[in-house]
Amino acid sequence: MIIHKNWVINVTLSAVIVATCFVGDKKLHAINEKQIVRAIFDNVTHGLVGLFACAIAFVDNWDKMYMALICMFISSAIDLDHFIAAKSFRLSEATNLQSRPFLHNSLIPLIFIILLVTCHLSSQNDYVIMILTVLSIAFSTHHIRDANRRGLLFAPFFQMPPIPYFLYIGLTLLIPFIFKAFIISEFKYTRLNMSSMIIDI
Ligand SMILES: [Zn+2]
Repeated sequence: MIIHKNWVINVTLSAVIVATCFVGDKKLHAINEKQIVRAIFDNVTHGLVGLFACAIAFVDNWDKMYMALICMFISSAIDLDHFIAAKSFRLSEATNLQSRPFLHNSLIPLIFIILLVTCHLSSQNDYVIMILTVLSIAFSTHHIRDANRRGLLFAPFFQMPPIPYFLYIGLTLLIPFIFKAFIISEFKYTRLNMSSMIIDI
């Protein structure tokens, strides 16, 4: 039986994303844990989900896999806006804001995705498309995960209610494959020789 090696990696990474979400979310909702421990687990989970999701999107472009590390960093760094909005380094103040901080406005990933599609259709430079892909994956996975607790905010227009847990997990798994199918696979200069990526079992 012939199996494409990258699909084995995709399935494995998808399972790792689900396991990461389950563990991270369990710790986040553990009321007996200290606030700092829950915040660290929440942020590390955002970073790891961004890392693995981006790795799925770039799996056919191994030489660009460093983008997954950039995606991990951005996915975690998004929550720094809590501290900026609070004008404080205190976690208690950063997590008790009156409104959602600016990087949690879901118009941001929407704008990145529109820019990405526009650049893709106008055959822009591969690196512009790659950077927009990483930003889109980092922001959309972060926002979907937060939406399970707080919904999606499209300020100043409307706020959606929280999304069900399994919808959040399903969308998080779907996001990298959407970018992989429509964006990454179209790279003109980075396509690998697929014959070297087949395993026979
Ligand atoms: Zn967040």
